[in-house]
Amino acid sequence: MLIGMDFGGTKKVDGVIVASATQPILKSRRYKTKNMTSNAELLEATCQSLREFGAAPDNCVIGISAAGAIDRDKLCILHSPNTKIPPPIDFAAQLQRKGYRVTLGNDLAMAACGIGKLDGHGNAVVITFSSGMNTGVMVNGHILETETGHTEYPYATDWRWKTPPVCNCPGHPTKKCVESFASGNAAGRMFRAAFLDGQVKPDHVVFQFLIKKMNDEQMDGGPFTADDLLNPNRRDMILDQLASESVYNGYVQKPDEVTERIRSIQERAIAHALKDAVLHYGRQKITLIGGMTHWWDLLFVPAIERAHREGSNILPMPPVVKCPYPDPCLVGAALYAQDKFNVSR
Ligand SMILES: [Zn+2]
Repeated sequence: MLIGMDFGGTKKVDGVIVASATQPILKSRRYKTKNMTSNAELLEATCQSLREFGAAPDNCVIGISAAGAIDRDKLCILHSPNTKIPPPIDFAAQLQRKGYRVTLGNDLAMAACGIGKLDGHGNAVVITFSSGMNTGVMVNGHILETETGHTEYPYATDWRWKTPPVCNCPGHPTKKCVESFASGNAAGRMFRAAFLDGQVKPDHVVFQFLIKKMNDEQMDGGPFTADDLLNPNRRDMILDQLASESVYNGYVQKPDEVTERIRSIQERAIAHALKDAVLHYGRQKITLIGGMTHWWDLLFVPAIERAHREGSNILPMPPVVKCPYPDPCLVGAALYAQDKFNVSR
C-alpha cells in the first residue's frame, strides 16, 4: 500500500495513492491541524488514518510532504508556518520508530516529483501561489529544493502604501522578497496597508466578505462587525485574517481603485516569478498550484500574457498550466516514497 500525507499548519491530508494520472487518490482523510498544540495529538490523528486505511508496517510505505524547514534524515519538521505544535514536529520519526518505512520532504519538491511522474517526463517546474510562494523542480528524476519566494523583488517601488512590505524571513537585508508581492498573504497585507492609510472604509466589500467568513467559522472573539475595525483593541483580530480570498472575492463583486491596484501589482509580481523560473530552470512547462490559482482568469491569465510579452526578448516562455491533478504534494510524497523504498503498488 502506498500512503501519502501532506502536513500543513491549518490542515493535514492523508491518502492511499495509486500512480495513475487520472485518479491518483484511492481514498483520503482530511482534518484540521490548526487547533493542535502537541506532537502527541498530531501522531494520534495520523495513526487514526492508518487504522482506517488498514495500514501496518509490513504492508505500506509512507511519503510525507510538509511546508517549512525539514530535516529529511531525522524525519523532523524543524519549522512550519502557522502551527501551534512546538518544534521539532516529529510524527514522521515516530512512525519510523513504530516500524513504518517513511520519507519526509519539502512540499514543493514533493509536488514536482508527483507532477513529473504523473506527466511521465521525470521533469517538472512547479510554482505555488498560496499563503506564500515557492518553486519545486524535478530534472531527470532528481528533485531540487528551492526558496524562490525569498529572492529580492526588483519592482518593490510598486508598493505605494506607507507600510513597507517586510518579509519575516532572515534573508537579504532589504527583505523585499518576491513573496511579499506575489503571495496570498501579500494581497491581504496590501489591503491592510490601504486601510491603515485611510484609503478604504470599514464598510468596504472586502471587509464584508471577511467578516461574514469569520462569523460563519465562529472564530474566537466573535461575532465581529464592521465597527470593530474602528476599535483599536479589536481591529487587528480582523486585519490579521485578511488574505487573497477576501480581497479577490471583494474584487469580483465590486472592483475599485485599491483592489485593482493590488491585482495589478500581483499580476506583475507573478509574471516576474514566471520569467525568473524560466531563466533559472530553462524552457520547460511550468505547472502552477496553490489556492490563488482559483483566480486564474483574473490574475494568472494576464500575468502569463505579461510574462510572454516581457520574456520573449531573453528566453521565450514555455507553456504555463494550472495543475490538472488533485493534491499534488500528497501524491508526489507517496510516489517519492515508492521510489526510495523501491516498492511496487
Ligand atoms: Zn523573505
